[in-house]
Amino acid sequence: MIQCNTDLPMEPLIPKAKIEKLLEEKKHPEKRGMVNVYICRNCSHRIMFVYFDTGVTPFTMKCSNCGKMTAESCMVSGDQPDSIWYRPNDISELKQIVEDAYKYNENDYKKMSKEQGLSKKEIKEIILRNYIKHYNQGGLFGRARP
Ligand SMILES: [Zn+2]
Repeated sequence: MIQCNTDLPMEPLIPKAKIEKLLEEKKHPEKRGMVNVYICRNCSHRIMFVYFDTGVTPFTMKCSNCGKMTAESCMVSGDQPDSIWYRPNDISELKQIVEDAYKYNENDYKKMSKEQGLSKKEIKEIILRNYIKHYNQGGLFGRARP
């Protein structure tokens, strides 16, 4: 669940090289070039990513076809995905990802905004806090292949 405390100071972003060194030390299994597919349990739609960076990715995600949180991860190889898992370079890139995520889930965030009495700016700040946490724990972000 999304964390809503905006009173605490925002966690700083760990430098990219440091995160990568930590993951290397932990011998994280997901490596560059590997293909990751999510299959929706609701509509069988497939969403594929190729790892551009090594790191942590979610087990489930929102299906881009039916909109339900029922797309589950499994590893495959031999396909050519349109999307990538990657690590942004800095905080400004992460802020752009927040903008894109807000647009992608706009209806859900508008509903959350109404229910919790939060402004659009506050919602984006909450998303950014969560994304910084994800990044600092080695998390990757999905986007279309460049
Ligand atoms: Zn689906």
